[in-house]
Amino acid sequence: SVDEILAAMIAREKIAPPACAAGGRAKDGRKNGMDCIFCKILRGEIPSKKVYEDDEIYAFYDIEPKAPVHILVIPKVHLSGASAVSDENSGVVARIFEAIPKIAAGLGLSDYRIVTNNGPDAGQTVSHLHFHVLAGGKLGEMA
Ligand code: AMP
Ligand code: ZN
Repeated sequence: SVDEILAAMIAREKIAPPACAAGGRAKDGRKNGMDCIFCKILRGEIPSKKVYEDDEIYAFYDIEPKAPVHILVIPKVHLSGASAVSDENSGVVARIFEAIPKIAAGLGLSDYRIVTNNGPDAGQTVSHLHFHVLAGGKLGEMA
C-alpha cells in the first residue's frame, strides 16, 4: 500500500515524515522531523530569511552569523547529518553543491567556505543536515 511504501521511505530517511504525523518519533524509535527546528522552518512554523529554494533544498540566513555572510543550505528531506548520507539519498547533496555556487554568485560572492559539522564533538547543534556557507571577508583559520 502507499502507507507501507511511505513508511519504508521514511524509515530509510528518503523523505521527511508528513507534518500531520503524530508524535515525535518513528515507530522504530528513531527521531524524525517533528521536533527538528529545521523541519519546523521548512514547514513555516519557525520564521526564516529565505535566500534560495527549490523542490529539494532550502537556503536561509543563519540566525547567529559567524561571518559577514552566513547562509545555511539544507535538504528538504530530514537527514540527521553527514553520517546519514547514503547511496540512496546522496543526490540531494549534489543538488546542494550545485546550488551553492549559484547562490554565492547571486550574492556577488567569489570566495566562501562550506562547512558541515557532524556530531556534537564537531559542533553540530541541529540534527538536520546543513551546510554552512561563510563569506564576506577574510575568514579565520579552520579549527
Ligand atoms: P551547527 O552548530 O553546525 O549544527 O549549526 C547550526 C546552526 O543553526 C548555527 O549556526 C545556528 O546559529 C543556526 N540556527 C539555529 N537556529 C536557527 C534558526 N531558527 N534560524 C536560523 N539559523 C538557526
Ligand atoms: Zn529536520
